[in-house]
Amino acid sequence: MSFSISKAAFFCAALILAGFSSCTPSEKFLIKQNIHSAGSKIYIRVLLEVTDSRVLISSESRMKITDQKSQEILYNGKGKSIYFQPDKVSSPVQIESWGSPLSVDKVPYRGMIEVHNILGKINIINVIKINEYLYSVVAGEIISTWPDEALKAQAVAARTYTYHHLLKRNGAIYDLDNTNNFQVYKGISVEKESTTNAVNATVDKIACENNKPIVAFFHSACGGITADDKDVWTGDNKCYLRPVKCNYCRESPYYSWEENLSLYEIRECLNKEYRGIGRITGIRFQRKDNRVSAAVISHTNGVLNLTGNEFRLLFPVKKIKSMFFLAKKTNNGLKLKGHGWGHGVGMCQWGAKGMAEKGADYIEILKYYYKGIQIINAGPEEYAGK
Ligand SMILES: [Zn+2]
Repeated sequence: MSFSISKAAFFCAALILAGFSSCTPSEKFLIKQNIHSAGSKIYIRVLLEVTDSRVLISSESRMKITDQKSQEILYNGKGKSIYFQPDKVSSPVQIESWGSPLSVDKVPYRGMIEVHNILGKINIINVIKINEYLYSVVAGEIISTWPDEALKAQAVAARTYTYHHLLKRNGAIYDLDNTNNFQVYKGISVEKESTTNAVNATVDKIACENNKPIVAFFHSACGGITADDKDVWTGDNKCYLRPVKCNYCRESPYYSWEENLSLYEIRECLNKEYRGIGRITGIRFQRKDNRVSAAVISHTNGVLNLTGNEFRLLFPVKKIKSMFFLAKKTNNGLKLKGHGWGHGVGMCQWGAKGMAEKGADYIEILKYYYKGIQIINAGPEEYAGK
């Protein structure tokens, strides 16, 4: 069935959040708790989908739909599947279920679902406790059979990354989306017992610098030394993201790798992002701390300057696995010999595994890769008091 709500213009969370910009991070944190907490459990808002098509939301048990503006209960019943169409939703609604999870187009999620109509498109938002969100995220980010301490380190890194974005909220109706723009989130179906245990064992623990959550970047394998964030991305220069020697990730299948790149392939990939790329006549890489920091590409129509990371991301995901490579000319292009997989910044996941196997606990692992940090309890009272 279609669901129609003929109420006034939709509620916008931005109104409630107006004025946050002048607050300190801790103040923002407190204000958000007032809006999105139940007891000491903090809720976050994850954007699942933006679409101009209808979306099916269902539950096998009791489901309640509330108009968020008027607080009118629009439906309260059992075992329904309801389609939400953009032209039928004018006011945001909140959907709750008891006894079984809500499903969005048959994918089950913990927590509540909100449906908003933004400029004619349905926005589906999952409102969920941080820990329950992390059950899914951590399972998706690390191999669940790895040692417990490595899983716990990943859980704290993912929680910290989430808190960092919570504090950056600036009036949007969601905190993070479910893609690798933030952290990949696929709901209940990917959860694993071991990673859920790691999340629960580290509940409320986050990594901080000066009592603020760090930007807890992580990557698959550094290949021997992690990267300096300022050499990978422009912007902030964070002193806890400095190169760290790592002898722990040698078991990674990508600790060492080789790849051939033809000039044709390079030009094809460049042409997808940049206009007017001619025949490539030369490529020069600049290096810093073992990694390619810049690529200067000469072609028959000019010269293109890219950062090392921009160059890497031009290609399909596994083609250039890291910027930690040396290149040699071949007859038709380049042969790359490299180490590691990922941007190389922050915690090396295979390194965390290696450290855990040698007896390190999750705090030692985190402090090894993020220099100068403290692990604090982010429970509302404790964090608010810092
Ligand atoms: Zn490593």
